[in-house]
Amino acid sequence: MRILRDVAASEILYYRIGGTVRYLLEARDREDLCRAIEFVEQQRPDRVLVVGLGSNLIFPDGYFDGVVIQVARADGGSLRHLGDGRVQAYGGEVLDRVVRFAFDAGLVGLEWAGGLPGTLGAGVRGNVGAFGGEMTDCLERAEVVAIGDGGVVRELAHDALQFSYRDSLIKRAGNLIVLSATLALEPASPERVAEARRTYAANVNYRLSRHPIEFPNCGSVFKNIHRREQVERVLTVWPDIEARVRDDWHGKVSMGYVINRLGFAGYQVGQARVSEKHNNFIVNLGGARAADVRAIIARIQEAVHATFGFVPEVEIEIVA
Ligand SMILES: Cc1cc2nc3c(=O)[nH]c(=O)nc-3n(C[C@H](O)[C@H](O)[C@H](O)COP(=O)(O)OP(=O)(O)OC[C@H]3O[C@@H](n4cnc5c(N)ncnc54)[C@H](O)[C@@H]3O)c2cc1C
Repeated sequence: MRILRDVAASEILYYRIGGTVRYLLEARDREDLCRAIEFVEQQRPDRVLVVGLGSNLIFPDGYFDGVVIQVARADGGSLRHLGDGRVQAYGGEVLDRVVRFAFDAGLVGLEWAGGLPGTLGAGVRGNVGAFGGEMTDCLERAEVVAIGDGGVVRELAHDALQFSYRDSLIKRAGNLIVLSATLALEPASPERVAEARRTYAANVNYRLSRHPIEFPNCGSVFKNIHRREQVERVLTVWPDIEARVRDDWHGKVSMGYVINRLGFAGYQVGQARVSEKHNNFIVNLGGARAADVRAIIARIQEAVHATFGFVPEVEIEIVA
């Protein structure tokens, strides 16, 4: 395990935002992660944060006087085909690599995750999803380790993980790290695997054309509006979008649409800007600060509250 001191978070995280970190522990494999946990238990720092690629969080601008454990940068060496369509991997493997490994092993069922920037561990924690699929559909079990629990590894089966929309027990518990995950996929004929590869490529291309990946960003900032009473509130104020809610947005209201209709496309604070390409993304034009992004989020929340009477939920993690 590499231990780095006084590292700029903006240099290691996907969003390129964040101040200096006292200790960065690089956990590239299972052994590294166990050592990182030992380090934390010995040093007992005031603050500990686990990150993957950092594609879904806003790291604070100031000095982070604590330890960041980066469960990422794995090299694919942990990927195992266990037979019966089951694939196991270290939590720090990039999810997209897991998808391609599955195809090579003749397995389908992960096409929806094509091009999703993030690690397997973070994907399990956040029950990531796209194109109608989600992690809960294929996750069989996960090994987790809790900070402050003496490095004891526990195995949690699917039902114990209590998945819901972009949520899981791991997210709510706060101190659990995903060490590994086992996915149950579908063994398929070469023709079906070829078809799944085409779906995967189409999903990747969709992302390339619709997401503002020419700038660092952290994905969709807000969750689409999914609570029934909130969807109804929106429809009371904007009855003209009823067909889109039903036919295009699977019963939810697209936050990108809401942000656009409330006039925030291109809204900018400092070097952070609401993307015109995808209005639910806030891009870092270069040198944006966490405070800039937080200011934009607060303005959008105020406007949604003034219009509909509720505050939209943030999907990304804002580290205090
Ligand atoms: C361009 C773009 C497109 C995106 N599209 C989608 C999408 O379609 N669907 C979707 O759901 N998300 C999407 N995202 C969001 C993001 O990719 C996912 O949330 C992804 O899972 C984040 O992975 P990460 O490794 O970068 O996690 P990070 O951003 O580093 O961390 C996210 C959270 O997970 C925790 N965490 C990280 N690793 C672990 C671990 N091993 N164990 C426990 N907790 C951990 C962190 O503490 C943090 O709370 C997108 C992001 C971008 C930038």
